[in-house]
Amino acid sequence: MDILQCDIYKGCDRYMHVETEIVHGCKGFDERTGAVSFPIYQSATFRHPGPNRTTGYDYSRLQNPTREELENTIAKLEKGSDGFAFASGMAAVTTVLGLFSPGDHMIVSDDLYGGTYRLFEEVYRRYGLEFSYIDTSKIELVRKAVTEKTKCIFIETPTNPMMKVADIKSISDISKSIGAMTIVDNTFLTPYYQRPLELGADMVIHSGTKYLGGHNDTLSGFVVVKERELAEKIKLIQKSTGAILPPYDSWLTMRGMKTLGIRLDRQQQNAMEIAKWLKTNKHVEKVYYVGLPEHEGYEISRKQASGFGAMISFTVKKAELVEKILENVNIIYFAESLGGVESLITYPMMQTHAAIPREMREKIGINDRLLRLSVGIEAVEDLINDLGQAIKGN
Ligand SMILES: *Cc1c(COP(=O)(O)O)cnc(C)c1O
Repeated sequence: MDILQCDIYKGCDRYMHVETEIVHGCKGFDERTGAVSFPIYQSATFRHPGPNRTTGYDYSRLQNPTREELENTIAKLEKGSDGFAFASGMAAVTTVLGLFSPGDHMIVSDDLYGGTYRLFEEVYRRYGLEFSYIDTSKIELVRKAVTEKTKCIFIETPTNPMMKVADIKSISDISKSIGAMTIVDNTFLTPYYQRPLELGADMVIHSGTKYLGGHNDTLSGFVVVKERELAEKIKLIQKSTGAILPPYDSWLTMRGMKTLGIRLDRQQQNAMEIAKWLKTNKHVEKVYYVGLPEHEGYEISRKQASGFGAMISFTVKKAELVEKILENVNIIYFAESLGGVESLITYPMMQTHAAIPREMREKIGINDRLLRLSVGIEAVEDLINDLGQAIKGN
């Protein structure tokens, strides 16, 4: 069992298991009233007691007590110095890009969330940032991609949707040796299973819309930094650009996060059974699930994470079958997104990864026969029955 030590924040100087810390957050409750559900401070501004005096809060773009509790909670879980909450995962990624200058080069996982690729290529390339897309599960390729302008290695692990696993420690070592920064999008495993900052990364990003929120009811995004120095830079960009997470959405995310541990355990257990079942289905060609011992990233994943997560991709033998499956699933919804209690199936080529050029997509394996499954907390027999009838196309 992992013991998390948090001595950074006042009120957080306890030693606890991660499951407990998720439930209790940072302050955990409202000190003034004792309210166990942390209050939603739905206020844009805060009254000052007098000139040069403040309650600690001035204006909610700068900080809001509800968002602050959430930010401290995610920082604590990821073992960072500071956390920042944003209106979406993409707002978090955008904020991080504000650290770089024209001419800077970034090495990026080639199998990447489509929206992140679009942000890099269609927005930030115009501002002079350069990106190389590399299979970051192959450490030699990462090393070769380094130039004297490389300022950052940005990875997802496991990747979306091909489930490739990058060795976070080895990548962080490369970054350190060239004075660059390692940023990990930790959306798929969350700090419950994987804590990149402990493995040497400088910064973690999340789409909190996914597992952290967990209920497909609100968007959110996070940045967590390891060191205070970086925190000040992110804080400046956050308050200047303003894509902050509002109080109510902060509360919803915090409420969702309390059950992260039991949700993920159940989702992972379901995913393992579904992955094994898919392997036996005669219409299925290949199953990509990190928890299968034959998966290329299985060993690294066991070394650096305490779980495999609940995302599965698979290819069917015939492309015609894809449409039937998407039309026939009932319990599993055909919808974008992932990580929530409801199981969702997506068609990456058409949905999440449509922004990625065809050649690049095909090179990494996103073809017209690939489906991605986000496994929820339903009874696994019902999920398997649903997939079974859909794949048969009855
Ligand atoms: C969804 C997702 C994002 C973007 O997050 P939003 O909350 O949708 O803006 C970024 N990275 C990964 C891995 C994602 O799955």
